[in-house]
Amino acid sequence: MSFATIYKNSIEQPEAYWDGEAKLIDWQQPYSKVLDYSKPPFTQWFVGGKTNLCHNAVDRWVATQGEKAALIAISTETGSEKVYSFKELQAEVSRTAAIMLALGVGQGDRVLIYMPMIAEAAFAMLACARIGAIHSVVFGGFAAHSLASRIEDAQPKLIVSADAGSRGGKAIPYKPLLDEAIALSAHKPGKVLLVNRKLAPMQLVDGRDVDYATLRTQHIDAQVPVTWLESNAPSYILYTSGTTGKPKGVQRDVGGYAVALASSMRSIFCGNPGETYFATSDIGWVVGHSYIVYGPLIAGMATIMYEGLPTSPDAGIWWSIVEKYKVTRMFSAPTAVRVLKKQPPECMQKYDLSSLKALYLAGEPLDETTSAWISEALGVPIIDNYWQTETGWPILSIARGIEDQPSKLGSPGIPVPGFNVKLFNESTGEECGTNEKGVVMIEGPLPPGCMQTVYGDDERYVSTYWSVLNGKHVYSTFDWGIRDADGYYFILGRTDDVINVAGHRLGTREIEESISSHANVSEVAVVGVEDKLKGQVAVAFVILKNPAAANTAEAQQALEKEIMGVVDHQLGAVARPARVHFIAQLPKTRSGKLLRRSIQAICEGRDPGDMSSIEDPASLRQIQGALGR
Ligand code: AMP
Repeated sequence: MSFATIYKNSIEQPEAYWDGEAKLIDWQQPYSKVLDYSKPPFTQWFVGGKTNLCHNAVDRWVATQGEKAALIAISTETGSEKVYSFKELQAEVSRTAAIMLALGVGQGDRVLIYMPMIAEAAFAMLACARIGAIHSVVFGGFAAHSLASRIEDAQPKLIVSADAGSRGGKAIPYKPLLDEAIALSAHKPGKVLLVNRKLAPMQLVDGRDVDYATLRTQHIDAQVPVTWLESNAPSYILYTSGTTGKPKGVQRDVGGYAVALASSMRSIFCGNPGETYFATSDIGWVVGHSYIVYGPLIAGMATIMYEGLPTSPDAGIWWSIVEKYKVTRMFSAPTAVRVLKKQPPECMQKYDLSSLKALYLAGEPLDETTSAWISEALGVPIIDNYWQTETGWPILSIARGIEDQPSKLGSPGIPVPGFNVKLFNESTGEECGTNEKGVVMIEGPLPPGCMQTVYGDDERYVSTYWSVLNGKHVYSTFDWGIRDADGYYFILGRTDDVINVAGHRLGTREIEESISSHANVSEVAVVGVEDKLKGQVAVAFVILKNPAAANTAEAQQALEKEIMGVVDHQLGAVARPARVHFIAQLPKTRSGKLLRRSIQAICEGRDPGDMSSIEDPASLRQIQGALGR
């Protein structure tokens, strides 16, 4: 069947299509209904079916390829490398599950995982899945305040963490940040399970903190059976930034997610059991959930967890891994490729990359130069794919596992089966025609694997993402897009105040709130500004309570550093603005709304657009002045 026919079937007869795809995973109890869309926009996939993510990722492969590699944990930071077979992975996950049960974690309890890229992080995620606990992985680069807000929202019974991560050979302590976050949070976890890598000193809190290695020894022979879960039971929460200061907990199910990943591993990523998959992301992001941990394992592939820089010991490190483990499918982000592009090409050329079939890039717009450069360097297709934390798997791509279709530079591709993508004109609410810019939306029901709701807040889920247009429920991606005459989409940036730094999504509101906590800050505006390497960087414009504190160049520099330090401490260096400018007035509308988009346009050297609503045009000149224009 052609791609066009399969796609059409998936949209016109979603139940029949997904009933077929559901055969890619094991069900302990068959479902009675493929889709329940009786309460739109909420979807329930595979109602009544019982399954388990850990079973599908680990146990079901033990019988047929138990001795084959499942998890390859490589750290160029600590110089360690360990291959776990499916059998060994099952044993480790079982031990971690036994530890969790012994610490009082049960089905439906939340477990927060704040970990570096080490094997134990994957064990913890899979152990939660095994016993029906809901994990909430928090990116290790986030600092105390970011972590505290997530602890408060998810209310975990247990937190799994480590003494430290490591970056560029330098230990990054996690435990002090975690202690600070717990102190800040109104909710306190019952227990904290700590992996001691002996990278940084660690003070254990009596009665709360427990040592992973000690408990692992106690549970060394544990065999914890999987807990079969109804398909729509929640599997995890993953927080993502939005337009408010409060991150949203994206909640996913069990059965739909397993099916979506199995389906995408076949149709988009073309992965086969026994092969090796290498995604260079971090478990703290959605790519880490879907395509480091669950997706490849569900497809019976070995997956690589890599802790380290892409350029250390040299820029050949990733390619040496590809050669050594015969990686067939690799997943990364355009920023990482732009970093590599600055390195000598020999780094890459000295390795045998003949196993590699394709490189998948996502998370931010892929520019044509980067795409052309890496495609030539590797000699394999570069497959752009567009999606979001909320969807859990690609919305747009070229599904080469179904039919090899051409890609177009600058376009992530066409909608993949299951996603009924539409473009709507923001002002009229009408569907856009060819080459007409609009908001990228998805008509409900969303396919399996997408978010079920915002954790604990159905109302916020509906009001944030959904509208009714032409009588149909439609989900907004908050991205601008355009579709050409061949049906290829081009993504033109966010419609909201979310920015994308090196493929990492950040809310400008969160950064503004953090900067506002500095004693001398009266008002602040943060915008995302185009950057050659990182795609975008955050730039802050600050009005001081006491402007005299920044009346010399040195004082300004010191204050800029101090404000960056506040963001580092509260949110993490990932959110640090690239520049902090001091001004006396911010551009606002007469009703007091900050004109972020105009500020952004000026920063990028563009026309600030219609200024008829601005309160004082002089404020724009302030921005220009601060930028030295
Ligand atoms: P996140 O939820 O952190 O994965 O961020 C999702 C956002 O990243 C999307 O809404 C887009 O703005 C952007 N994005 C992701 N993938 C792509 C892509 N392939 N091309 C352009 N933008 C992308």
